[in-house]
Amino acid sequence: NAAPLGHNVIPIVNKLQDIFAQLGSSSTIELPQVAVVGSQSSGKSSVLEALVGRDFLPRGSDICTRRPLVLQLLQIKRKPDGTDEEYGEFLHIPGKRFHDFNEIRREIQAETDREAGGNKGVSDKQIRLKIFSPNVLDITLVDLPGITKVPVGDQPSDIEARIRTMIMSYIKLPSCLILAVTPANADLANSDALQIAGNADPDGYRTIGVITKLDIMDRGTDARNFLLGKVIPLRLGYVGVVNRSQEDIMMNRTIKDALVAEEKFFRSRPVYNELADRCGVPQLAKKLNQILVQHIKTVLPGLKSRISATLVSVAKEHASYGEITESKAGMGALLLNILSKYSEAFSSMIEGKNEEMSTS
Ligand code: GDP
Ligand code: MG
Repeated sequence: NAAPLGHNVIPIVNKLQDIFAQLGSSSTIELPQVAVVGSQSSGKSSVLEALVGRDFLPRGSDICTRRPLVLQLLQIKRKPDGTDEEYGEFLHIPGKRFHDFNEIRREIQAETDREAGGNKGVSDKQIRLKIFSPNVLDITLVDLPGITKVPVGDQPSDIEARIRTMIMSYIKLPSCLILAVTPANADLANSDALQIAGNADPDGYRTIGVITKLDIMDRGTDARNFLLGKVIPLRLGYVGVVNRSQEDIMMNRTIKDALVAEEKFFRSRPVYNELADRCGVPQLAKKLNQILVQHIKTVLPGLKSRISATLVSVAKEHASYGEITESKAGMGALLLNILSKYSEAFSSMIEGKNEEMSTS
């Protein structure tokens, strides 16, 4: 029941964390944050939810996400007896564990109303939610309000500019991966998502294009040229997905059922058969995972020198204690152990074995 996001990255990060723990340091790899951008109702919240593999975000045909939701996934230890629990905790309700994910959704809605009012108002004040689970990678995801053009309800006349500024404040950070979400039933050349992502990341090193709603395109059309990057090229490419429709949401269709339906959708359409690596939530997760592994590879040399420096200082400190031979042997064994674990993790990453590593 592992979340699609991170399933082959988790073992690597865990291994590195073990190594750091043995060195008595909790510092570890800082993974990039992932933010979703796009116009309102393009399917941003749906995509994030599918990646996490749990139902807990407000979604709908109206404006739902009206405050930035900073979602921190935190891995907790698996219980030996298999009674693993997953729960959420909000910054604004310290100490309360939400085990019911529907209750999490209701609290997001209630907290949105408290700050932004009940009438479509938008606020840049964050809601911060932590999800604790044995099945997740330590990573931060950000769900953002969508770009709208015409003020409705309590929205100010400059709503579009305000939302754009809010979105930019997240995605301009060089460490932020951007999921630029565009519905397939709209013109890609008019995509707000690609436009704002292009402003934040002009070279396209950290933008993944996500095309939603492939199931409700105009009859006789398909997203082939979008997915191939023939309409707007994107360095990291595109993935097409089919999320739950509004009807599915009203019928309480589960994420699991939705994934099965998505798979069936792509299988039954010959036009997408040869684009299998660009279709479906699992492929999107895979792409993100590959980027995360790449990121780890990039930061590893820095980690390695930090570890070496720690080892040297530990050895020096030990030498200054003099002739306590027994502990000297113990220390030597510990250092060896750490080093061998380190190089094991390192070499399997370089060889790309992580693709096949199990999460056990
Ligand atoms: P957001 O405003 O960008 O966060 O979009 P939501 O995730 O809230 O989705 C907006 C509406 O579009 C909801 O009613 C969803 O059920 C619907 N939706 C999202 N993705 C898809 C999709 O791939 N296919 C269909 N048919 N509906 C979708
Ligand atoms: Mg949303």
